[in-house]
This record gives sequence, C-alpha cells and structure tokens, in this order.
Amino acid sequence: MRGGEKLGIFAKKGYDYDSLAKKLSVLFSKKNSPNNFYLSLLQFFCDALGSQRGTLVLKEGERFIPRQSLKEENFSFRMEECIPFIEWLKKYKEPISRQQLLSEPKFATLKKMGLHFFIQFQAEICIPLFIEERLAGFITLSSKQEGKPYTEACRNLCNWIAVQVALSLQNTRMMDESRYHQVEVDAAKELKNQIISNLSHEFKTPLTGVIGFAELLAEEIDGPLNPEQKNHIERVLEGAQRLLKVLTALVDLAKLETGHLPLNVQQFHLEPLVASLSEELPFSSDTAFKVSLTGDTPRIYGDLTHVRQIFKQILDNAAKYTPQGFVEVTAGKKGEMLEVCVADSGIGIAEDKLGKIFENFYQVDGGLSRRFEGSGVGLTLSKKLVELHGGRLWVESAPGLGSRFFFTLPLKPIVIKHRELAA
Ligand code: ADP
Repeated sequence: MRGGEKLGIFAKKGYDYDSLAKKLSVLFSKKNSPNNFYLSLLQFFCDALGSQRGTLVLKEGERFIPRQSLKEENFSFRMEECIPFIEWLKKYKEPISRQQLLSEPKFATLKKMGLHFFIQFQAEICIPLFIEERLAGFITLSSKQEGKPYTEACRNLCNWIAVQVALSLQNTRMMDESRYHQVEVDAAKELKNQIISNLSHEFKTPLTGVIGFAELLAEEIDGPLNPEQKNHIERVLEGAQRLLKVLTALVDLAKLETGHLPLNVQQFHLEPLVASLSEELPFSSDTAFKVSLTGDTPRIYGDLTHVRQIFKQILDNAAKYTPQGFVEVTAGKKGEMLEVCVADSGIGIAEDKLGKIFENFYQVDGGLSRRFEGSGVGLTLSKKLVELHGGRLWVESAPGLGSRFFFTLPLKPIVIKHRELAA
C-alpha cells in the first residue's frame, strides 16, 4: 500500500493519524514533570482539533481534581453538581459534545445535568480517560477556532488519542503519586526528628543533673554511705547513664537524618583510640580482648569523636554478647579504605536477623524477658556514621559461632554527603 493511499483514508476525515501518532510518541518519550506532561497533552489535543482552550481533570481518591488548564488559570469546578454526568460518562465511555447533548434524542434524559457540566467547564466536548476500564479523569475542550462543530470525525479522533494516552497517563500519575508520597514521608521524617530533638533536649538537662548529683553521692563527698546505699546509688547512676546514651544516640540519629551533624575531619591513628576504650568496655573476666592494630596500621580520615562512637558501640556489643571467649580487633588496607574487623566468639546472630539488626530499635532478643540490656539504636547510628564517612558496615555471623562486624573508613580526605544519607 502506498503511503498516500493510507493517508487518503484519514485525509477524507480531515485528520492525518500517522503524523499525529508520531507526534504523540515524541510527547510520550519526553522526560517531563507530570505538570509539564499534562500541559503538553492539552496542547496536543487543542492543536489536533483546533480547540482554543482545554482542561484536564484527574480522579484522586473519590474526587475529581482539575490538574492542568490551557489558557485557563486557576480553574475549579463544583464537583457535586457534575457527579450525575460523570457517573453517566463512566458507562457511556465515549467523547460527547455539547451539540450532541442538545440535539440527539438519545441524550434527552441527560440534557439538564449534562448542561450543568458543559457550562461549568465552558466546554464544547468532554473526552473521558479510562485506565483499565476505570474512569481516571477527563479532558474538556472549548469551542474550536472559527466556531466549527465537533463532528463525529473529531470525536473519533478524541477517542483515539484518549486510548493512546491512557497508559502514559498511568505512568505519569504513578510518578506524580510517588513524588507526592515522598514529600509526605520527608515531612513526617522532619517532624519526627524535630520531636526527638526537642524531647531529648528536655530529658537531657535534668538527666545530666541526676548523674552529677548521683556521682557526688557515690564519691561520698557528702559523707560516707553504707553498702546498701552505695549499691542503690550505683544503680541510679548506671540507669541514668544508659538513658543518656540512648538519648544522645537518638539526637545524633535525628541530626544525621536532617543533615545537621557536622563532622570535624582529621587524620589519626586508630591504635590509641581503641586502647583508650578498652577500660570502658563491659568484658566478663572470661573474655580476652585482643587488639591487632599497630603503629603501622595506616591512619584514617574521620571525625575522632564519631569514629570513637562507632568503635565503642561495636566493641560494647561484642563484649556484651560474648560471655566467654575472645573479642579481637584487626584492620587491613583495602584500596582507598581501611577495613576494620571486630570479631567475637559470642552468641552470634541467626541469618534471618542479620539484615534487621541495623534497623532502628531492633533487638534480636527484644522481649520483656530479654537477657541483655540495650535499646536497639546503637548499630543504626553506627552504620549511618560509617556511611557518612563514605564507608560501609556489615556483619557475618551464625548462632553459637560468634560474629564478625566489618566496617571501612577512608584513607583519603573525604567529602561529606548528608543529604544522600538522609534519603
Ligand atoms: P542494643 O543496644 O540492643 O545492643 P544495637 O543496635 O547495638 O542495640 O544492636 C542491635 C541488636 O543486634 C542487638 O540487640 C543484638 O541482638 C544484636 N547484636 C549486636 N551486636 C552483636 C554481637 N556482637 N553479637 C550478637 N548479637 C549482636
């Protein structure tokens, strides 16, 4: 068949579907924002049919919302008055013009409610948009330039475009919804972090007072304590310090997620840092602590306070979950990073729990009867802190066979990427 013949069929009706199909595919292939896509779509309809103005209305939940208008600013409509017509459109499933409504006997019962609709939209034709048999919205077009009517050929063309558009519209809407969802998630995160920061601050001030006075009492500056009093005050101190640790971790996490945790990066050796920690770790007398870091272990770049925090958390856990055996720290150069391994011969972690231990507030043994104290925030914070330094934190473990926590820290100066982490 010659191209001219094919064109002829449509040319008779006044439309060149081939060239319109090409233009549509260009429109669909453009990476547009949803609003730009809707605008281009309206422009396409108006150009193809010679219409002056158009409006796109999409269904959102139970409502129909005007999403874009061409040459019609801030368009709104009274949906309640249009519901009967929209309900009818769901069944009719085809474009309908104002002229058809007024002149064809089959639309006699629809006339009054249909007119309400056409008047509100100042439209001459309404084209329903269906996605998988469901009415997803509609496009209305105003009168044509030169006031020509929307003939059957025009309505066929509208129908054809609407069918082509459906899939693309679905994709665009999904993009739109996920972006909208993301904005909501970001706002909720921001609010959560704000609440945590404010509450933690309110808790921290009195807590620091409790710790200070409990320390004074424990040091017997105000007079000697009997053994029972000593025991009690030590338990107050322990509890308050644990609470302070959790609060500090929560505040740091909130700061990290909102990109407000500044890093003071410098180059330093890990050996003295780990040595300074060993006194603070809760090792049982049956657990040996081995540190295989030397002066030859390359110096890393990082924030000393936060790198100390990472080591403290992972070593604290290793000590806590290793009632007997050993805990060992080793490190080796891997490309531009130093890979640190904290291995223990403790209780280990089941395979299905390995991914979860880095989630906020997750504890493998989280019931009320749990054997080990903890809050489940430590590893979440450590992982984010390592990532803030451009590194990775992961674990290999099996129940009864101990655990090996690995993390990498940079050997070269780093650029901090807060925003990526918060995502
Ligand atoms: P927690 O304060 O509860 O220790 P973390 O975030 O530090 O919180 O750890 C989360 C969970 O991971 C812990 O509750 C524990 O079940 C598990 N875990 C962490 N380190 C070890 C380890 N070295 N050996 C066994 N289990 C561990």
